[in-house]
Amino acid sequence: MDTPSQPRSEPPTVAAENDDFTRTIACGERALNLLKQLRAHAKPRNYELFYCFTLGTNKEFCDALRSAIQKDLRLTEEAADRLFHAYLAKPDVTARVSEVGSKIGDEMDDIMSLISSASEKAGKYGESLQGINEKLPGIESPQQLKGMLTELFETTKEMAEHNKVLERRLVESKAQIDELHMKLELTRLENFIDELTGLTTRKRFDQIIDLEMQQAEETDEALCLLLIDIDHFKSFNDAHGHQTGDQVLRLVGQTLKTNVKGRDCAARYGGEEFAVLLPRTSLKAAITVAQQFRVAVKTKELVKKSTKASLGHVTLSVGVACYRKSESATEFIERADALLYAAKEAGRDNVQAEPDPRICEAKPTAA
Ligand code: GH3
Ligand code: MG
Ligand code: MG
Repeated sequence: MDTPSQPRSEPPTVAAENDDFTRTIACGERALNLLKQLRAHAKPRNYELFYCFTLGTNKEFCDALRSAIQKDLRLTEEAADRLFHAYLAKPDVTARVSEVGSKIGDEMDDIMSLISSASEKAGKYGESLQGINEKLPGIESPQQLKGMLTELFETTKEMAEHNKVLERRLVESKAQIDELHMKLELTRLENFIDELTGLTTRKRFDQIIDLEMQQAEETDEALCLLLIDIDHFKSFNDAHGHQTGDQVLRLVGQTLKTNVKGRDCAARYGGEEFAVLLPRTSLKAAITVAQQFRVAVKTKELVKKSTKASLGHVTLSVGVACYRKSESATEFIERADALLYAAKEAGRDNVQAEPDPRICEAKPTAA
């Protein structure tokens, strides 16, 4: 039987293999062979399973698949289903949030019923104390007193034990809720952080731009937007492979991240497009930031790690727009996009900005 390649210990770098295409095809062929050999249903999900197996990057998954087929060299549909959901399927965020939410609800129900049983017990304990209190004046012998004290001791002990159980359950519940809360937080982060570049996702960016526009509207502070696109990136991918292209996206992402600060928001806006929101930043300062990005990226020589061969450079085109009061996010973004297009038209490796409306207002034209 075909065996998967060894898991790669390091993630691919800018210097990833030049033979991406050949490797992808080879993995695909091996996946198809496995599909046939193991008599698995020929459907896309099973192909994906074997493709990931032949890639060998997820060791845990490879081990699980190996042990699933060990017995009779066959991959059953049930096993394929289980493996896919355990290792490859990305649960959709809404389903995850509602799953965690319902677990928190169950936990809260448990706590509520514990509290109500505790208050019932406390009520009964109170009643039995009251009973003892009423019986006290009628005590005539030491035996009677002894019996009453034993009863008191027993009820108190029972109450203390019950309280201990309650306390332990509450501590457990708190831990459980903290864990569920962490899961929700992770889901939120996954939704807000782009997996490849570590930048803010488009989804989150769309929320942030609305908030920042509102803030700019209220405070009258300047708000600038940079739309950035990598030049001729298709040719770069074609020449060096998609994986190497991904590494370049990471590198550009990193460069943006290290050149912004405070409330600035650097996002991956689309495939090889980025958006940077600069609150409390004048147009002049935003142009400076854009130029910093442009220069920082173009001066980074991309080197193939394994051979140290140069992969050349990539350049950026940038459109810089300044928020105008009362305009919509779409209008604001469209203006930045038009300026980005102008930067491409101007020959790429270029920054284009609109005239500063504030400067225009301050200095009316002579005509
Ligand atoms: P231009 O200078 O006009 O922007 O040219 P371009 O080639 O960059 O523009 P075009 O829109 O024609 O191509 C964008 C390319 O970006 C196409 C696609 O291969 C690449 N791309 C988009 N998303 C990703 C990604 O996630 N990873 C990689 N490696 N490439 C991507
Ligand atoms: Mg583009
Ligand atoms: Mg491009």
